[in-house]
Amino acid sequence: MASIDSPTLYTTFRHCFPEVSSEKIALAFAPGRVNLIGEHTDYNGGWVLPAAMQLGIGAAVVYHESPTIFIRSAQFAETFQIDLQQPVFHSFSDWRIYPQAVVRQLLAQGHRLPGASIALHSDLPTGAGLSSSAAIEALLGFVLQPLVAWGFPERVSLAKLAQAAENQWVGMPCGIMDMFAISLAQPRQALLLDCHTLSFELVEAVPPPSLSWCVIHTGKPRRLVASKYAERRAECELALNWLQEHGAEATHLSACSLSDLEALAQAEPLLYQRAKHVVTENLRVKALCQAMQRQRWDKVGAYLTQSHLSLRDDYAVTGVELDTLFELSSRIEGCRGLRMTGAGFGGCALALVEQDKLTNFQTHLATSYQLSTGFDPVFMSLEIAGGVDWVLPPHTI
Ligand code: ADP
Ligand code: MG
Repeated sequence: MASIDSPTLYTTFRHCFPEVSSEKIALAFAPGRVNLIGEHTDYNGGWVLPAAMQLGIGAAVVYHESPTIFIRSAQFAETFQIDLQQPVFHSFSDWRIYPQAVVRQLLAQGHRLPGASIALHSDLPTGAGLSSSAAIEALLGFVLQPLVAWGFPERVSLAKLAQAAENQWVGMPCGIMDMFAISLAQPRQALLLDCHTLSFELVEAVPPPSLSWCVIHTGKPRRLVASKYAERRAECELALNWLQEHGAEATHLSACSLSDLEALAQAEPLLYQRAKHVVTENLRVKALCQAMQRQRWDKVGAYLTQSHLSLRDDYAVTGVELDTLFELSSRIEGCRGLRMTGAGFGGCALALVEQDKLTNFQTHLATSYQLSTGFDPVFMSLEIAGGVDWVLPPHTI
């Protein structure tokens, strides 16, 4: 279901590397991810429910004998280049930080990498909370290990590699959810993932024909995400430490119950709010899953709404634009529920909308949101796709 077709990838390769023969080209695609529910629970050892989407990043790759990797992206001007025999690492402030992070992590783990020319083409909005960074990391981890037979254990290793690359070499302390979804997702299914144990279950997540998932980009570039994200992580750690010092046996915040948090409410009201979001959101993940499994789609919308309110009021990661989408959509007929998806502070929301009212919903929301915020929202359908894979595998290397 890759949205970047093979002719586009061939053309991108020829454009990026006119001097390299494309005779022995290999093609791969990594999807973006939409988290249905379970926001900021992953680094608290909780449940998440992401799915891969049809939009993503494609790679056209030609492997070669010389020990150098060249990477170009149709969306960005710079070339990333690294000599594998004498790798030199730079402090990039542009997109090259991602390929460098993946190469660096692979080398740190002792992998031997092939020389390659890699051209990237994407239709996934960047910085929108649809995890283009995890998509590029998983995609490059995938194509730079061309001899691997990508079974289940290898895909789990790929997710861990991509997370380590982002944590250690990009400097973003993200959890494993995005990389896990992009590495292991299956079409039509969401992944109910326990981020503490990494055990998961696939859950059918395609709504009945009368309903439709709708992804809405606020048009607001995300700002301060990395620093606010780190701040929330630190607050969660403080909350857990406090609870443990006061007798809680939980090893991670998601494992606490609401009654465990009572004493924290008096002592540390802000930490209590953060912890309350994590605990209630974790319960909502299971509840929303059950609702989908039992075809109780009427309940699914209500859980989306509750999740947004908790992220707005207790976790404080939504921001004006996402909250405006939330408020306006609740007044438009046919919207069953909407929540921010991704880390927050701008980026995208996910709504569940009645199919026969979808056009009307989008038209009304676009007009009123533009008037309120000055931004034009972008609407995307959500077709639930599979994880990173070859479109055309390499023949010989
Ligand atoms: P998100 O993961 O929500 O999209 P991030 O800020 O974490 O937002 O990652 C976005 C960054 O990932 C981009 O600014 C760019 O550096 C890199 N990136 C995403 N897509 C591509 C692409 N197609 N080619 C090169 N770099 C990309
Ligand atoms: Mg990212």
